[in-house]
Amino acid sequence: MELDARRILEGTALEADICIVGAGPAGITLAREFIGHKADVLILESGGLEPEEHIQQLNEGTVMGDPYAGLRQTRYRRVGGTVSLWNTPVGNELGAKYVPLDPWDFEGWGEFADSRWPFDYSHLEPFYRRAQALCGLGPFAYAGSDWSDGERPCLALEGEHLTTRVYQFGVGHLFTQSYPRELRRSDNVYLCHHATVCALETQDGVRRVVGAKLVGPSGRRFRVAAAIFVLATGAIENARLLLLSGGEGLDALGNRHGWVGRCFMEHPRDYALTLIPRSPELFSKAVFYDAHPARDGTIVGGRLALHERAIRTARLPNASITLLPRLKMRTSPDGMVDRFLARLHQFAGRQPRTGYGWSRIRDVSRPFDAFQLLVNLEQQPNPENRVLLAQERDSLDIPKVEVHWRWREEEQAGLERFRSVLASSLEATGLGQVEVRTGLRPDPNAHHHAGTTRMHGDPRCGVVDADSRVHGTDNLYVTGASVFSTSGFANPTLTIVALALRLADHLKRRI
Ligand SMILES: Cc1cc2nc3c(=O)[nH]c(=O)nc-3n(C[C@H](O)[C@H](O)[C@H](O)COP(=O)(O)OP(=O)(O)OC[C@H]3O[C@@H](n4cnc5c(N)ncnc54)[C@H](O)[C@@H]3O)c2cc1C
Repeated sequence: MELDARRILEGTALEADICIVGAGPAGITLAREFIGHKADVLILESGGLEPEEHIQQLNEGTVMGDPYAGLRQTRYRRVGGTVSLWNTPVGNELGAKYVPLDPWDFEGWGEFADSRWPFDYSHLEPFYRRAQALCGLGPFAYAGSDWSDGERPCLALEGEHLTTRVYQFGVGHLFTQSYPRELRRSDNVYLCHHATVCALETQDGVRRVVGAKLVGPSGRRFRVAAAIFVLATGAIENARLLLLSGGEGLDALGNRHGWVGRCFMEHPRDYALTLIPRSPELFSKAVFYDAHPARDGTIVGGRLALHERAIRTARLPNASITLLPRLKMRTSPDGMVDRFLARLHQFAGRQPRTGYGWSRIRDVSRPFDAFQLLVNLEQQPNPENRVLLAQERDSLDIPKVEVHWRWREEEQAGLERFRSVLASSLEATGLGQVEVRTGLRPDPNAHHHAGTTRMHGDPRCGVVDADSRVHGTDNLYVTGASVFSTSGFANPTLTIVALALRLADHLKRRI
């Protein structure tokens, strides 16, 4: 069923068994699991069914520390959530890259905080398998050997350090169109859009959440009562809503030990390494590493990774390496001609220059002279990287957020170690030489927000418990990347969906 908060009268009180706040991949996945269930579920979404630019001002906030794209540019308010900003070409549409966390990501690492997850990879694996289908992906298989064939083989990477793995690619319309349509057709799930939650109301100290206070775009206020509340508003807003509820500072919901908003993590991207091939044949030998349809139609793209042993021995951040071909320089002898040919292909819509799709031209060895190595990096959970409430208020009179984020010297040192192991391992394969731009700091803008309501079995070390329930409360849950204890290098949505499925099972048992 569909509800439009713009038509709800001031002072109205709505009721549900479960109230989910936020209709991005996390909230939609959770709500969808309850279609046809005996519980009445209400999902509250700040944005509308279609993109509306003026609502996006509610995402504005300040970032202090290292330069960052901004909080408005990296999130979107609309049914379907931030999926509306996805920018990876998948067939003729836009979509995302998917990949699970690695088993060792669950063991935690880093010098700043105890970041062990309360369960291991094998526990989450069945939920990953269910998430694959929901995200429109192929079988749960991420090794290069699962997908390579005679036409597109993996590179020979003998040696102890390097291996080939893959990303899978999925379209965004599942979350912005298909699943919202299913929710609106359901009899027991109510999708209420244009409804912004501004705080949660508590009882019995802060143990029990009894209501959510809402405001519509015109400033009309109303309220929702429910037996169970789930925050699924993304890593910045999940922390913001907890900090806005219960009381100030350590009295805020879930903040008894001061963890709410802390350990914010991004996935910085490093561009310091370039592989100069020994032979131009490498471009045709490396077509597996471009996005391409596999035999069963699944779209996959190879990537390089270091083996777990190499990562652990040198205490490296986890990372993934994408091969992006570099166009020949204009000044090289045959560069001008080859660049011209490349642009012709581009005009013909056949070659998005150096991004995914690069292998679609007939002679891939002509326009390129090197591979830029794009390294997607893990960031350590550090309590000093955090979300706080700002003094300034938004147009609905809700305090804005301030994010403090820095890439620290310890992290830069880990990155330098990683570059060095990767460069020597690649050169040892005989594929070519690696040029390193030393001193370069990574670009923080992968737009993957995580870690502000971290999961930890011990309330002194985290915000939610192993069930995703806020420590110290009976009926308040948080889901999404904010609960990640560590975030590996992996694009977060597959894990977000897996965790939402896991939470759905828990809530069904509880109800
Ligand atoms: C350009 C770009 C590319 C990306 N590419 C990838 C990729 O390739 N792979 C990948 O895995 N991830 C990618 N991501 C990240 C991915 O989009 C997010 O991790 C994911 O959308 C998070 O899902 P979510 O449901 O937790 O939050 P969101 O998708 O942010 O959804 C949260 C929802 O909550 C709503 N909301 C917020 N506050 C309130 C409130 N107070 N009351 C009511 N509703 C509220 C918002 O309007 C929003 O609809 C990308 C992000 C960007 C910006």
